[in-house]
Amino acid sequence: MKIVIVGGGVAGASVAIYLRSLGADVTLFEKKQMLIAGPPACHLHAGGNLYPDIDDTQRLQLLRESIEFVRFYPQAIERRPTALAVPVHIPLDPKELERRALILSHSYTDMVAKDPEAKVLGDPEHYMLSFSYKQLQELQELPTPKVPRNHLEWMISFAKEVDLAKLKYPVLLVQEYGINIFRLGAIAQLLLQDATIHYGTKVVDAKHEKGGFKLTYEKNGKRYSQHFDFLINAMGFESGYLDDWLGYKKSRLVEFKAAYVASHRQEHLYPEMIFHGVRGTDRGMAQFTPYPGGYYQLHGMRKDITLFEDGVAKSTKDSSQPKLPQKYIDWIEHGWPKEVALHRTQRAIEYVSRYIPSFKEAKPTPTPLYGAQQIPGDDLSLRAAEVSFEGDRYARCEIVKVSSILSMADAIVQKLIALEALDPSLQGRRIYPKPLEETKIDSSAKSIAEKRGYPAQMAQLSLPYFVASS
Ligand SMILES: Cc1cc2nc3c(=O)[nH]c(=O)nc-3n(C[C@H](O)[C@H](O)[C@H](O)COP(=O)(O)OP(=O)(O)OC[C@H]3O[C@@H](n4cnc5c(N)ncnc54)[C@H](O)[C@@H]3O)c2cc1C
Repeated sequence: MKIVIVGGGVAGASVAIYLRSLGADVTLFEKKQMLIAGPPACHLHAGGNLYPDIDDTQRLQLLRESIEFVRFYPQAIERRPTALAVPVHIPLDPKELERRALILSHSYTDMVAKDPEAKVLGDPEHYMLSFSYKQLQELQELPTPKVPRNHLEWMISFAKEVDLAKLKYPVLLVQEYGINIFRLGAIAQLLLQDATIHYGTKVVDAKHEKGGFKLTYEKNGKRYSQHFDFLINAMGFESGYLDDWLGYKKSRLVEFKAAYVASHRQEHLYPEMIFHGVRGTDRGMAQFTPYPGGYYQLHGMRKDITLFEDGVAKSTKDSSQPKLPQKYIDWIEHGWPKEVALHRTQRAIEYVSRYIPSFKEAKPTPTPLYGAQQIPGDDLSLRAAEVSFEGDRYARCEIVKVSSILSMADAIVQKLIALEALDPSLQGRRIYPKPLEETKIDSSAKSIAEKRGYPAQMAQLSLPYFVASS
């Protein structure tokens, strides 16, 4: 059976890696010249602790899926914990966050008891730790280690840099790790180097035809058509176009968002730091994500930083493709106006420095990490979603968080088994890729970062993979 995947973001590339490892005949079309070069994903969301508004079912799903993601892409993971703080003026009770994180901690303990290989987020008993004001004051007296060796040492830099008087207590430290998107792109490209991938090729139409679909695509100004038996729509925020060509109605939201990159001194390692907030207001969550080499990725969930006043579009009864204002499509395709990028980055620096005062000296860099993401349905707070089908031969990848890719791949495999395109013995069996040479990932990830306009240092991990995973 000839399977086609349209879109080589994290969804399309991962399903291609997975299906090829099962022996399927896969062709992938990607309009860009590289894989996984769409919106960023810096946070694994292993438990959804950044989203107090989602229910425990979604949080547990994100935890399970993130564990699978780490097992599938261990070399793309930044293994540093995340500190979660609630500022005093935010209407959230940190004790309630602690209670909910404890549910995740118990669940992680159970998963590891059933399958020791699931222990990829550190020791289950340290999945979540709480710190009182007094404990953080005591940590301020200790020397800051260059490389933290345990959870207490990770909190020393937090205790010293953050304005502790602005927070409610306890502050939590959770084993929610980061993802390095440049390394993820490099890994996908290396794992797919022998695959049939048409880069720089845009699919422009699709029609039903006997036993499958006729796809029309454009490469170097020429048009071609080809028949495929099974079609996987992994076009990210542009998935609705394919639905429209095929006459399928599907409601979805698309949201344009951005994170920013600043440079600042870096004498030691920091945990990721989250200062909870109320999304979309001027008190939105602030997110501080450290990278090596003195670079930091910043989010501020306010309409003048990460979010945009007119940044959410909905599908309509006439079209499954939500239409964002044209200026955001232009920014996605051609880059941002420099002054807008610098202005918003400066705002992000100022916002984060409310909590980390020394950060006000940070310098903006000109290229944000940004893009549009799709959210199936009409609930903007949905975080765990994977795939939907039309008939037997059309799958739509609908991930909201990248950790959902293996649940998505599993559902597609099940469909292909039902069509007798894959062997039934593959049902429920997980195949993980073999580790790749670190030097190959490093050099490819650096080149991807530079081609995309980001500092090469951002393509590295803070802790070398072998140290981090030992
Ligand atoms: C600012 C921001 C921060 C985020 N942070 C996180 C995070 O910390 N953690 C997390 O898990 N998620 C995060 N996300 C969400 C995450 O980026 C998305 O869920 C993820 O990128 C979706 O992957 P995808 O493969 O479905 O889509 P995409 O990455 O958008 O991939 C779709 C691909 O399809 C290609 N394509 C589209 N149309 C065609 C066509 N006609 N022909 C050929 N190719 C085509 C595109 O070029 C693209 O490469 C963030 C999103 C944003 C915007």
